[in-house]
Amino acid sequence: MIKPKLQNRLQLAHLPTPIEKLERLGKHLGGPDLYIKRDDLTGLATGGNKTRKLEFLVAEALAQGSNHLITTGGPQSNHCRQTAAAAARCGLGCSLVLRGHAPESITGNLLLDKLLGAHIYWTEGREVKAVIAEVATEQKNMGHTPYVIPLGGSNVLGASAYVFAMQELMTQLTTSNLNIDFIVFASSSGGTHAGLLLGAYAYDFRGSVLGISIDHPAEALQTQVGALATATATHLGLGTLSLAEKVSVNDDYLGKGYAQVGDLEREAIRTVAQLEGILLDPVYTGRAMGGLIDLIRWGAFTRGQSVLFWHTGGTAALPAFADKLL
Ligand SMILES: *Cc1c(COP(=O)(O)O)cnc(C)c1O
Repeated sequence: MIKPKLQNRLQLAHLPTPIEKLERLGKHLGGPDLYIKRDDLTGLATGGNKTRKLEFLVAEALAQGSNHLITTGGPQSNHCRQTAAAAARCGLGCSLVLRGHAPESITGNLLLDKLLGAHIYWTEGREVKAVIAEVATEQKNMGHTPYVIPLGGSNVLGASAYVFAMQELMTQLTTSNLNIDFIVFASSSGGTHAGLLLGAYAYDFRGSVLGISIDHPAEALQTQVGALATATATHLGLGTLSLAEKVSVNDDYLGKGYAQVGDLEREAIRTVAQLEGILLDPVYTGRAMGGLIDLIRWGAFTRGQSVLFWHTGGTAALPAFADKLL
């Protein structure tokens, strides 16, 4: 089989991230064996899945002679915080275009963005694209060379990172003689999902890759992930593949919308914290784990099967949601 071409890549993450067995949670739920892949420990200013993507994205920014990163996200964006940290590590400037208005209290990721030295711009109802264009022009006028990273770092470079993360996982599974039937994780802008799906194909993972949608109807996310996986395959020299039909999304846990914490997230976060001493986040992994726990209760997986929950990070957002979590 053709293997992905090696890419221009920085070293920002602590890899490989550990795999741990969730012994007490598994027993508590009485279903499949549960494992967790700790991408919350990738290391960039409290870590998360964007660190892997930034190894490829910032490598390209540097190759193009850029000295200033611009990206966008919500007020508590983990992607923006990791981008600010990557910029600091590489000696680059950083501007973050955050959706909405400046909040009264500066906490969680927003606090870290500021400590990391990022310039913050609020959209205040304007189009993200327009604000990014303005910020880029401003940087050029100051003699800088900006590089724009898309929402969630989800282009072919970002998705490539999760193709190689799949290679990392396969090596770990072989070394520890572990068999995994399902990989379950939070899926939002689609880069992680597209990468894992393509990586599963490229490295011959025999189980299923199931994304729990955080904020999109299943069909929309499937289309997005399928298109990105196809584009990433081309980028990595894997040829023309159509993976659209293999994209598996569950959108039963959208709740009241993006970053709206409800019982599902609160209970999942408290359960995993108190049984395993592991922190999930309020927006992504809390929702995805809540979904996984619900699926286990409904009998979607059987005893004897193994499910790996891919922890994508986000714990820095916890303080910003204190009132919803207690
Ligand atoms: C961004 C993010 C995700 C979603 O990853 P995508 O590649 O955007 O789908 C999941 N979990 C956390 C904690 C994130 O910050």
